[in-house]
Amino acid sequence: MKTVLLIDDNREFRGIVSDWLKEHEWNVLEADDGEVGLQLALRHHPQAILCDLLMPRCNGFQFCRTFRSQEEHADGTAIIVTTGSGYATDRMNALEAGADEYLVKPINFTNLARVLDRFTDGGTTFRAAPVVPTDKRTKVKFWGVRGSIAAPGESTVFYGGNTSCIEMRVNNEIIILDAGTGIRPLGVALEREFKNRPVDINILITHTHWDHIQGFPFFMPAYNSQNRITIYGFEGARRGLQATLSSQMESPYFPISMQQMPGHVAIEELRDLDFKINSVPVRAHFLNHPGVCMGYRVQTDAGDVCYLPDVELFQRLRSEMEKESRVVSKEDREFAHDQDTKLLEFIKDCEVLILDSQYDSTEYPSHVGWGHSCMEDSVAFAIKANAKRLFLFHHDPDHSDEHVSRMVARARQMVAHHQSSLVVEAAREGCEVVLDKLVSA
Ligand SMILES: [Zn+2]
Ligand SMILES: [Zn+2]
Repeated sequence: MKTVLLIDDNREFRGIVSDWLKEHEWNVLEADDGEVGLQLALRHHPQAILCDLLMPRCNGFQFCRTFRSQEEHADGTAIIVTTGSGYATDRMNALEAGADEYLVKPINFTNLARVLDRFTDGGTTFRAAPVVPTDKRTKVKFWGVRGSIAAPGESTVFYGGNTSCIEMRVNNEIIILDAGTGIRPLGVALEREFKNRPVDINILITHTHWDHIQGFPFFMPAYNSQNRITIYGFEGARRGLQATLSSQMESPYFPISMQQMPGHVAIEELRDLDFKINSVPVRAHFLNHPGVCMGYRVQTDAGDVCYLPDVELFQRLRSEMEKESRVVSKEDREFAHDQDTKLLEFIKDCEVLILDSQYDSTEYPSHVGWGHSCMEDSVAFAIKANAKRLFLFHHDPDHSDEHVSRMVARARQMVAHHQSSLVVEAAREGCEVVLDKLVSA
């Protein structure tokens, strides 16, 4: 039986919540103030703690800080603050002190059930079995292809103005690569496809730059309490995935916090470079890009899909630095060669390669060190790696449709010159690839 600790100086509130928890098969411990609460928490290691903020002897902020500072209690116990204070600063301070969730009284029991389920193994709310997509084919669909910032307007109508978001269907799983603004129309499409039936969705994040996460607050399936959304990604340079993703939804940036989204949203921080999203094996590779940025290779029976939206190839970077008369040692050059070779190995023989091609070789010299690559290198890389299809990706927000089409034409000339069978396209919103058969919607 799961144990919950209820810390509140209001006996009546404790009584109501305690009755409800017992009905839902929880073992309930109660404390009248923070000090007694702390002793019980340290002794019993409950799965969840419901804690008031304003209590005598030890207030809720102090309780969270003290409990979290005991290293062995840092993880494993969810602290849910239950308070009469609706002030944004109190919410922020409570979360900063170590609370996982913040609920304002009077407590809505549906909300409480959802929150408890999120932090425990579930069972408090009823959920019908999730719907499994019926189409068994392995597919890749582009919903956002732009880099850096969304660029809607007349000049980007053909390729699209939304930032990074790709939908994959593999082994009946829905895997979404990045949550740029393209995830908003994808969410609308998923709602239309699954109506109100529950669905499990996996989102794999390469890194937390805005253009890869900014659409998530507008992802409609996250507002349906029947849906389970798991966000996978690696910890960033300055803070964890959970903290970074939640902070973009904090007041004053957004009116609804990530914790308040009714869908069951779970964050899975990845540690290993080889992992699985349910039945689908994925490999990860660190990319040369400011902060922590990953490339992914999603392995499927119909061929592998490599997604490297933001990467600055080392050798081009070093050679540009040399041209600018910066000192580049022999070791530097060897290091660059080794790094690019490792990346080449990572993408070897893939079916679909989605690769950062923000610039071309004439634009790159004025963007050295910005973390992006040029089309000429993408093509050369794809040919060397024996990729079947290359999608130029992360289009510069200043590149018009004509500009991108000219880049594609030049890329195809390069392919012809190398007598390669590589198929090159520029990624375009709405374009769907069924592996083994290219279909442009
Ligand atoms: Zn980006
Ligand atoms: Zn980036």
